[in-house]
Amino acid sequence: MEKMILIKYGELSTKKSNIGLFLKQLKDNVSYALKDMNVNIRFDKGRMFINLEEDNFDEVSDRLKHVFGIHEFDVAYKVYNKDIDEIGKSVLKLVKGKEFKTFKVVTKRSDKNYPIDSMEFSRKMGGVLLKNIEGIKVDVHNPELLVNIEIRLDAVYIYFNSEMGLGGYPVGVAGKGLLMLSGGIDSPVAGYMAIKRGVKLECVYFESPPHTSLEAKNKVIELAKKLAVYNNDIKLHVIKFTDIQESIYKNCPHEYLITIMRRMMYRISERICRNNNCKIIVNGESIGQVASQTLTSMATINEVVKIPVIRPLACFDKLEIIDIAEKIDTYETSILPYEDCCTIFVPEHPVINPEVTLAREYEQAFDFETLINEAINNHEIIKISELENKEINDLL
Ligand code: ATP
Ligand code: MG
Repeated sequence: MEKMILIKYGELSTKKSNIGLFLKQLKDNVSYALKDMNVNIRFDKGRMFINLEEDNFDEVSDRLKHVFGIHEFDVAYKVYNKDIDEIGKSVLKLVKGKEFKTFKVVTKRSDKNYPIDSMEFSRKMGGVLLKNIEGIKVDVHNPELLVNIEIRLDAVYIYFNSEMGLGGYPVGVAGKGLLMLSGGIDSPVAGYMAIKRGVKLECVYFESPPHTSLEAKNKVIELAKKLAVYNNDIKLHVIKFTDIQESIYKNCPHEYLITIMRRMMYRISERICRNNNCKIIVNGESIGQVASQTLTSMATINEVVKIPVIRPLACFDKLEIIDIAEKIDTYETSILPYEDCCTIFVPEHPVINPEVTLAREYEQAFDFETLINEAINNHEIIKISELENKEINDLL
């Protein structure tokens, strides 16, 4: 029996028109995730098969759990002889040593010329198990052991309880987006959700040294690394925001500090998008979370850009966001107590419903176009590759 990994890609199979593109991307992403291993990847009618040279299934499973576009995957055993008695022998060999009291056989027959239909095959295979193993019974609703048998053209594949994949679309199929990544809880989660829909992310971080520290920046790099696991790699644009922030502070009414600061962030983000072929801005804004995220505030800030701004968390509660942050392992990093450029120039009474006309008028008090150009021309790019990251972790 050959041992391999069988991947089901669920939602993808409904996208008939661009399925080719999806599968190519999924294959590239799986190859990337396993690039330091010797693997052979093959597609066959709704399934992807991975043959491994070495028996490193645990490590492979671990990595596949971070690849979007995979609905479910299994360690499968391939049997060439399709005779039902032979299949029965293989199944018995495979379940030997497994602890279970209840089971169910599920058969899928894509080889339509096979003489026994799925229902009957399951029944017969169930009979083989009952006859040969004492103390077990069938439970069709909640079985401890699921015995899956796929009768395909080339061979028969046997596998047991499946691992769920992440679902979503393979990263890259939707094109590129730019995530505004702060050190907070929300933005990494927003990024994760955009990646889930197939958006390949680049990130932008606004820092204001010396008001913000190197620790704050390292924290953002750490978060970018955690996202890179899902995104294959990540390009992080670091923008020095100090001059712009100090100019706003000196020249504009303080109740509008945050509004104008965020208008500048949006303008810069749109420019980075244009220069890097990103089609959208993604951020962690959530309606009503803070003064700058009231609907009026969002409108006043958003009006400076034409590019779509996607806010995956717009309608999430903080607790729901924290749940996801914990699941994707960004929460502990996000709550490290380093200051952000938004927190250091916070006015006592930020305006809740900032007016567009006033925001426009106040920001004319300094030459922001020149400062924006300078910030973009001098910005730092950090390339974060997930595998490098793994190697670094291994050394620690
Ligand atoms: P988070 O929202 O990530 O928890 P936060 O609460 O500190 O961080 P907010 O003030 O709520 O950030 O800002 C809303 C969104 O604006 C963030 O989710 C993020 O997308 C973006 N943002 C804020 N500060 C920065 C920054 N310094 N660099 C890049 N993006 C930022
Ligand atoms: Mg927030």
